Amino acid sequence: MPIYSFSQIQKYLSCPLSYKFRYIDKIVPEFEENLHLILWTEVHSALEWLYNQVNNFKIPKLEELEAVFVEKFDEKAKKLENEDEEKKEFLHRWKYYLQSFYKKHYPFDDIKVIWTEIKLLIDLDEKIKFQWFIDRLDKKWEDFILTDYKTNKNLPPEDKTYYEEQLTLYALWVKQKYWKYLKKVYWNLEYLHFELQDFWEITDENIEKVRQKYIDIVYEIEQKKAEYNLWNEQAFPTNETSNCRFCDYKDICPLFSQIFWKVNYKDLWEDTIKAIVDDYVKLSKQKSEIEKQLKQNKEILEEFVKENKLEQIYWNEHSIKVSKLVNYKILDKEKLKKFLEEKNLLDQVLELDRFKLKKLLEGTELNLGTGLCQRQETLVFRGK
Ligand code: SF4
Repeated sequence: MPIYSFSQIQKYLSCPLSYKFRYIDKIVPEFEENLHLILWTEVHSALEWLYNQVNNFKIPKLEELEAVFVEKFDEKAKKLENEDEEKKEFLHRWKYYLQSFYKKHYPFDDIKVIWTEIKLLIDLDEKIKFQWFIDRLDKKWEDFILTDYKTNKNLPPEDKTYYEEQLTLYALWVKQKYWKYLKKVYWNLEYLHFELQDFWEITDENIEKVRQKYIDIVYEIEQKKAEYNLWNEQAFPTNETSNCRFCDYKDICPLFSQIFWKVNYKDLWEDTIKAIVDDYVKLSKQKSEIEKQLKQNKEILEEFVKENKLEQIYWNEHSIKVSKLVNYKILDKEKLKKFLEEKNLLDQVLELDRFKLKKLLEGTELNLGTGLCQRQETLVFRGK
């Protein structure tokens, strides 16, 4: 089984198709440096350097810390085409985060640093491995603390569950490696923009819950991969959300690829597909208006027919034949089932539920080669 990571799982959960593009088709988007990334990287590098100094019993001055990295920041930013003013803003943010962090934690003597920026390999079970980096692992008396720095300007709890789950699984690694020395494990999320710290104990109960959740997701992905390889091209469907705006695969995604076609759209489609699309949307709107009108008319006619006990209505050149379609609404399903069972009638009314059957067959290979049912696809158009 491949080694998983949080970003892989996140990709799958946000859109299975983009997961397939990235991790099955192995289409790696072109990497583009930007100011957000430089800010994030350079904050992490500076704090890693700071704690490595602390771990060597040296407490660098704030100016030293800034001096080491300000040049690096400038050097990277110089290669970007952003306005100078914008670059200055990011540099200002970078300095501000370091200054406030430094002042808050100085003289850094309340913890012992175990690791900074370490790559973890976590065993979720005997088959599944997860890999990731943690920003810092400290020891405070007999407790271990996992720290993660956040530079985003959106305040928690926006992505909090994700962060919490990440750190909870890292705690599993800490427990697997350091069980001999520790009493409790805590997570510490440092939101640098807000000068805010989120600090919790990670209990065995938390770990087990999150571990199980991620095991289930990994097995679901593996199952989808097997389906995809054997018979189901749709095993990784699209999921249109606001995140599509930032997706690297829009040009090959069936929801958006047409926008990227390099044909003379005007000449080729003006009188054909484009006109049909417009027409389709127009007719769909008319259809729902007509349906609404028909429903209202039917309600009036129903009352008229009932009141006058009629089976046919004549007016002008049209007439309407009225017939009754009898149906029974089930009020108590269980009791009704029992009643029919007692009367030996249940078999006569048992019917396969098409929706439940679809759900059952979609997740398995039961629809292959049994000759009992056939997968049929109908395209459904919805005007937008
Ligand atoms: S554009 Fe949206 S739906 Fe298409 S692959 Fe990307 S995230 Fe998925």
